Amino acid sequence: MDRQKGIDVLFNPRTIAVIGASETRGKLGNDVMRNLIESGYEGRIYPINPKSSDILGHRAYRSIIDIASTIDVAVIVIPAKFVLKAVEECGEKGVKALVIITAGFKEIGHEGQELEKKLVDLAEKYEMVIQGPNCLGIINTSSPYNASFSSGTPSKGTIAFASQSGALMTGILDWSLMEKIGFSKFVSLGNKAHLNEADFIEAFGRDPDSTFILLYIESVVDGHKFMEACRKVIPQKPIFVVKSGVSAAGARAASSHTGSLAGSDTAYDVAFKQSGVRRANDMAALFDIASVFDDMYLPSGNRVAIVTNAGGPGILTTDACEASGLDIAQLSSQTIEFLKENLPPAAAVYNPIDALGTAQPEDYGLCIEAALRDENVDSVLVLLTPQAMTKETETAQVIVDAHTKYPDKPLIAVFMGGNSMVYPRIVLTEGHIPVFDFPERAVHALAELYKYTVSRDSLRDESIPKFKADKKKVEKIISDVRKDNRRVLLGNEAHAIAEAYDIPVAKIRLATSSEEAKNLAEELGYPVVLKIASPDIVHKSDIGGIKVGLKTPEEVEAAFLQILDNAKKHMPKAIIYGVDIQEMAETGKELIIGCSRDVQFGPLIMFGAGGIFVNYLKDISFKLAPMTRTDANELIMETKIGTLLKGVRGELPSDVIAIEDTILKISQLVTDFEEIVELDINPAFAYDKGKGVSAVDVKITIGG
Ligand code: ADP
Ligand code: MG
Repeated sequence: MDRQKGIDVLFNPRTIAVIGASETRGKLGNDVMRNLIESGYEGRIYPINPKSSDILGHRAYRSIIDIASTIDVAVIVIPAKFVLKAVEECGEKGVKALVIITAGFKEIGHEGQELEKKLVDLAEKYEMVIQGPNCLGIINTSSPYNASFSSGTPSKGTIAFASQSGALMTGILDWSLMEKIGFSKFVSLGNKAHLNEADFIEAFGRDPDSTFILLYIESVVDGHKFMEACRKVIPQKPIFVVKSGVSAAGARAASSHTGSLAGSDTAYDVAFKQSGVRRANDMAALFDIASVFDDMYLPSGNRVAIVTNAGGPGILTTDACEASGLDIAQLSSQTIEFLKENLPPAAAVYNPIDALGTAQPEDYGLCIEAALRDENVDSVLVLLTPQAMTKETETAQVIVDAHTKYPDKPLIAVFMGGNSMVYPRIVLTEGHIPVFDFPERAVHALAELYKYTVSRDSLRDESIPKFKADKKKVEKIISDVRKDNRRVLLGNEAHAIAEAYDIPVAKIRLATSSEEAKNLAEELGYPVVLKIASPDIVHKSDIGGIKVGLKTPEEVEAAFLQILDNAKKHMPKAIIYGVDIQEMAETGKELIIGCSRDVQFGPLIMFGAGGIFVNYLKDISFKLAPMTRTDANELIMETKIGTLLKGVRGELPSDVIAIEDTILKISQLVTDFEEIVELDINPAFAYDKGKGVSAVDVKITIGG
């Protein structure tokens, strides 16, 4: 069955069987039964337990096969060794979706992994979808139903939450009840044997009860499906992710610059960014953000007005705004005049608006409303500190009223204080005004509202450019290298691959004798560069394996012998294929362009300041291939060297289009050839606008 159709059934089942239902308190099968009943589920519940005839007032069955009516969803809470048989029976019965709570699968090792594979086979065979195994279950507050062993049911709200950790969910559920945060869907992903995060993201995207998607994940099952699902949903709903754990790619030792500079988590970061997903650093931030998204209109820009009754918090908030990419709005002259007329002379009428410690609720009201009316303001932050004359609760009510009157701009409150703020905060929360105890948290959450609009709008339907390429030639080179039992390509081979994709390179030829070296130098034209050709020597200059600017046959001969000598001295075990003779390129700005491969997301392209100081400067940026031209341009401009390439301090601008082309060609090459596991061009020289680029050092490693 189509996975999405399966999830629709999972969200709204007409009948549920609980396989392993129990009368005994403390058993999971009992928790699930009680949750189902207590959540107000209106469909039929069928407990399955061969030893009982009645469980919690519902007639029990020996097996799902014995039930006469059709069953939409089966929740499985029996020991792992019985699960396969139960799943097979569900298949026979025509059940559409399974929630397998039982643990003891992939997470216990090889044996469990085999068992889990069989589960998936059965799901495919009988066209069922499976959530889990090893999960907490599922809760839909709108149908309503709770098929989980959670303690309690979350309140109804608009947040769809999926989590790879069941334990974390129980903590959040408990906390959300206290904080009055409501959920539409609460899905425990478990081992993600069949249904995974991408499936649920898509389903949440279609779900009319959900306006906001939260995820806690440790990994994704399929990077491309994940990105595709996110890109589909983001235009309508924000997706926020907390991602923990280290990806497998990071564990692999990398020899290239690109490989070693990409951190274990880089691909995830880049994937989130490229698909419009916002990443929250921790769960607290995630829920701060959720509280702001709940019921709020999105801001149309980043200009904030601050209303306060104290100077200090106003300044703190201003600083926090600037650090988060929010601007302090320039109030219109009309607003300023209005405030001057209505506030005491000592009040600050520019932004932050300081209505002074004596500010009464009506003062707050007029300031907030003026700010909400101002066309130069996109959102309003209201700060309140408890001072002698402050009326906290009445002020809270004034804020709620202002929001009701002008609901289309975000309005967020910061009530700083302890006991005196408890009741006012309740007034705000009930009035749908997000309230925080400190300005920084409020600003951070507000900034996310704005940043969502930016990432949503940055998702473009731009095509991936295609360049002419000689794939046959690349195939031949790779197969020859394999025949030679190598994974690291020689310089001349790597350059030939780049050339096949029309990447501008300095011409290079392999010489095996000094005689040949001189002939090739003649052919290429002086001056030339000589480079050691050995798969075992990756960084050639480190061992004296490079001689540049050679102008005569004598110099070439001497360099040839010297390089071989140096190699023998420094790397006696290295297999030497000879010496590469290369055209001397005119120097330009040194760039690095490279690619490493992430297990989940595929080719990860790096761009940055090149040369021998790459590792120290770390002026680099990443994107996943394939890429659009806008992606390539962003990749360049995210670095500091990108700014220099535009031409600063009287320098001519560099040929940015040619650099984009090179990035796009590399992106095409590594997308076409999965066997290229690492590619490094360092340096490529960038020349003035119109003069192109030239790669002088291309390194390629292929997979085993
Ligand atoms: P490696 O990175 O293995 O040490 P490279 O081939 O990158 O060796 O060469 C080291 C440096 O020599 C480069 O950073 C560049 O400055 C210079 N160089 C190398 N090849 C050329 C060339 N063909 N033209 C001009 N300069 C070159
Ligand atoms: Mg180099």
